[in-house]
Amino acid sequence: MIEASSSAASDRIKKAIRDIPDFPKPGINFKDITTILSDLNLFRLAINTMVEPFGKKKVDYVLGIDARGFIFGGAMAYNLACGFIPARKPGKLPYRSISVQYDLEYGSNTICIHEDAFARGKRILIVDDVLATGGTANAAAELVEKLGGEVVALTFLVELGFLKGREKVHRYPIHSLVTFD
Ligand code: AMP
Repeated sequence: MIEASSSAASDRIKKAIRDIPDFPKPGINFKDITTILSDLNLFRLAINTMVEPFGKKKVDYVLGIDARGFIFGGAMAYNLACGFIPARKPGKLPYRSISVQYDLEYGSNTICIHEDAFARGKRILIVDDVLATGGTANAAAELVEKLGGEVVALTFLVELGFLKGREKVHRYPIHSLVTFD
């Protein structure tokens, strides 16, 4: 399925994303993307549009962020004919891993990848569903660089522009299909 313009694709997908106020806690307006996943046309449109900028670039691996980044990242890796690397929460990966801890508004989070996930110099595309404050994406980029990889770009289905996450990862190319200002 080829869409004539990515802005038409973006409009269709934006309309279908569902807001869940006060989830998982009061004050958070959660962007529910399961409405995209369950609609075969929208899911295919999202993946086809997200891979479009990378079709002619060399990408060795897609790195997807736990957990919704696995859904988009897995489909993108298949589409780009490259490998997939899961960046997981602590205690989930079976083999020896490296980790990066990052601050949240309250407390902190950690994400991990296997220490042999890829060889030095490989080109990695980082994927997640939502760019919010940018802490998670920034930690994923740090993990890639710790192993000597090169971050091709960071790509998201949704960017919450008002949280200015883009500023935290401004040193990389950033792509987002839908932006909420
Ligand atoms: P951040 O590190 O603040 O950029 O948060 C990004 C991570 O948290 C992503 O893995 C998202 O899945 C999730 N996330 C943060 N805010 C939201 C939101 N409003 N709706 C859905 N997911 C969110």
